[in-house]
Amino acid sequence: MSKLIVANFKMNGTKSSITQWFNDFSMEKNISNEVIVALPALFLFDFADNNISVAAQNVSSHSSGAYTSQISAEMLKDCGINYSIIGHSESREFLKETDEDIFNKYNQLIKYSIKPIICIGEPLKIREDNLLQSFISSQLKQFEDTDNELIIAYEPIWAIGSGLIPTVEDINEVSELIRGLCKNVKILYGGSVNEENASNLLNNSNIDGVLVGGASLDPKEFANIAQSC
Ligand code: PEP
Repeated sequence: MSKLIVANFKMNGTKSSITQWFNDFSMEKNISNEVIVALPALFLFDFADNNISVAAQNVSSHSSGAYTSQISAEMLKDCGINYSIIGHSESREFLKETDEDIFNKYNQLIKYSIKPIICIGEPLKIREDNLLQSFISSQLKQFEDTDNELIIAYEPIWAIGSGLIPTVEDINEVSELIRGLCKNVKILYGGSVNEENASNLLNNSNIDGVLVGGASLDPKEFANIAQSC
């Protein structure tokens, strides 16, 4: 079955470097998996009309009003955007977003038929203290009752940008937990995915795709990841 391969550019790139990225990526053949590229908000409109889907990296939890600097789900939809990451650990940390904020963002996106890519994942201390299951369950609590198809990206915080990666068994344990909690769910793994480890992750673990940060900035490496299963 086709996998979902998501790039997260974070706060990287310019209009010209992203144009070059799309040109280079489009030269790559044999990609049968679905690809989505999460761009900095300022460039979404420029690249929305691409044959590769683009995603926002965040959205406001409010519908409109006095929220200087924020971008609403309605604005994303108006610019032709059909996916948005929410709950990324960097947004949770730097923007002090709570699980409640993330659920409000989810509801805003659903209202405008934009598919949320919901990031969850534990800090190292939680894993070391054997609190993983309760931590993940509490991050997912608000999503348990929905029949909507969910895309959950499991991104252990200690694996993001660190070169550390959980074992396939560790990923499968969390993925089983998520599948037990949510009815209709696609699971992505994210955290230090690169062209060397992607094939093992995609072919041997119980996931539906990957979310790739640093390694997605090189179109050739990202294509190799997208071709690895
Ligand atoms: C991310 O931040 O979503 C991510 C997966 O980053 P990296 O691949 O660089 O660890």
